[in-house]
Amino acid sequence: MPILIIGLINQVKATAKKMKKFIKKNSILKKLPVIIFSLVLMVAGIAQTPAMAENLLKIVIDPGHGGLDHGVKGKTGFAEKNFTITVARLLEENLKNRYKVVLTRSDDYHLALDQRASAANSEKADIMISIHSCGGIRLGTGGIFIYYLKVSETKEGAFLNSGAADRKDWATLQEAYAEKSRVLAEKFKKNLKTQEQLTVHNVRAVPLANLKGADMPAIIIEAGCLTNPTEEKLLKDKGFLNSLAALMAESIDEYVLAMDQQP
Ligand SMILES: [Zn+2]
Repeated sequence: MPILIIGLINQVKATAKKMKKFIKKNSILKKLPVIIFSLVLMVAGIAQTPAMAENLLKIVIDPGHGGLDHGVKGKTGFAEKNFTITVARLLEENLKNRYKVVLTRSDDYHLALDQRASAANSEKADIMISIHSCGGIRLGTGGIFIYYLKVSETKEGAFLNSGAADRKDWATLQEAYAEKSRVLAEKFKKNLKTQEQLTVHNVRAVPLANLKGADMPAIIIEAGCLTNPTEEKLLKDKGFLNSLAALMAESIDEYVLAMDQQP
């Protein structure tokens, strides 16, 4: 991290500590350290030199589906692949002044699941956010679901071939990040709960193929259900999507701050 940013972060940390005693009861004031931290990252991002830009954290955003794979479709025909790319671009807008941001797909084409994690790995991303919408058999199924990869109970195949101990197996690569991914997922839950239109369900660890192989903290967010007509309408509303993207960006800032504060 550039010296300027470290200096600024240290100042923020010191200020945040002093203020802690006074802000315990006020939820808006509680957010001050994160707000200040985001502003510092923003200013640092705007004022960055090429060398500083090299050191910015990299966020890979993965818009689910694409091409012939439409994903879930709503009653009006609104496809998940279009929803995910819209949210991904809005999130990129929210982040790009303080992080390096890369999308696994920037247009309407197909990418296999393992190509997504591979792309994040070859970018050496610090965080991967995979965006989807949910689809339920029942019209009433709805809300926001946030997942991270469940650690498998068997340790078989932890390494590829017995002689290649330095090559971790694709299937277990993400497991090393289970705790960090859980923390990231909880930040998303906490912030997304501040909007009132969509229920936010408890974070769950699930054995999803999408995250396997990602060599960094990674989560999947299903931001509403397109099969639910009320939610489909909401998920087409640009204003709502903007607020959703802003809350996701805030969650990433909080996670980065939390990791930075770890001993
Ligand atoms: Zn999906």
